[in-house]
Amino acid sequence: SGKSRPMRILQYVQRTAVQGDANSVISAVDSYCANVEWAMNVGDMKGEILDAVVLDVRPRWVLELGTYCGYSTMRIARFLPPGARLVTLEMNHHYAQVAKQILGHAGVDAQLSPSPSSVPQSCTQGEEPVGGATHSSQRRWRLQEALIYTTLHCLQLPLQLFSRTPQNPLAASTPKPPEETAGRQQTKRSSTCKVDLLVGTSSALIPQLKKKFDLDKFDLVFIDHWKTSYLPDTKLLEECGLLASGTVLLADNVTCPGAPDYLQYVRNSPRYKSLYFPSQLEYLQVEDGMEKSIFLG
Ligand code: SAM
Ligand code: MG
Repeated sequence: SGKSRPMRILQYVQRTAVQGDANSVISAVDSYCANVEWAMNVGDMKGEILDAVVLDVRPRWVLELGTYCGYSTMRIARFLPPGARLVTLEMNHHYAQVAKQILGHAGVDAQLSPSPSSVPQSCTQGEEPVGGATHSSQRRWRLQEALIYTTLHCLQLPLQLFSRTPQNPLAASTPKPPEETAGRQQTKRSSTCKVDLLVGTSSALIPQLKKKFDLDKFDLVFIDHWKTSYLPDTKLLEECGLLASGTVLLADNVTCPGAPDYLQYVRNSPRYKSLYFPSQLEYLQVEDGMEKSIFLG
C-alpha cells in the first residue's frame, strides 16, 4: 500500500478510474476521500462552486495556489476553453509528482518544473518527501489538520463521526470501484488546455510568473494553499501586476479553517467586490465557504 496519503489516492485512482476521463478520476478521488481517508481537496460540494465560477469567467489564464493531488486542477482544467493556460503552484515535491500522475490519468498533461530529474529520487518512489521546505510543509500540514479537527471538536461533533462503524453515515465501507471501469483502455483525452505545475513556494514563484509566461494578467486565481498566505500572496499578486480589472479571486476554506485577515481585506478594500458562497468543508458536514472577489483595478 502507498506510503503517503497522496500515494494511496493515486493508487485508488489507478485501480478504479477510467483513463483519460477527468470526471471518472474526480469521482474516484471523492469516493476515496469520503469513505476511506479524508484529504484536503476542495471536494465535490465546493467543487461545484469552483466549476460554476470557471464556466462563468471563461478564463484564458488561471493561477492556482496549492495543487496537492491535482484534484481542483483537473476540475478547473476540464472546463477551460481551448488555448487557455493553467499555472498551479505546489511547494511539496512529492505532492507535485503525485498530482502530475493523477492529472495524467485524467488526460490532463501537466508540465512539472523543475522536472523530476532534479528532485530527490526517493520522491518518485513515493516515500515521504525529504528536504527543509517539505519537512516544514508537513509539519505545518499536521498543524493545519490538527486545527481542523480542533475546530470540529469545538463544534462538539460526535467523535463517532470519525469512527468507521456501519451505522455511521460518513463511515466507510471500502468504496466499490465503478463497475466495468477498472482496466479499461484510455477512452479520450479530455483537456486541450496546458497545465504548468511549478514546484516551489508561492512567495518565491509569484514574482517570476509575469516574465516566465510573458503574461499580462490572470483572469482567475484559485487560492487554496496555507490560510495565512492568502493575504500576503494576494498583495504580492497586486504588486507584481498580475491582477487587472475583472480578475476573479476565488478563495477556499475562508470559514474552516478560515482566513480572517484575507476576508477582512477583500471585503473592505474598495479595490474588490466580494461575495461569500456558503457550503461545507470537503467530505464533512461542517460549515465552510468560498469567497469570490472581483478585482476592480
Ligand atoms: N487545491 C487543492 C485541491 O482542492 O485539490 C488542495 C490544496 S491543499 C488544501 C494546499 C496545498 O498547498 C498543499 O499541498 C501545500 O503543500 C501547498 N502549499 C501550502 N503553502 C504553499 C505555498 N506558500 N506555496 C506553494 N504551495 C503551498
Ligand atoms: Mg481547500
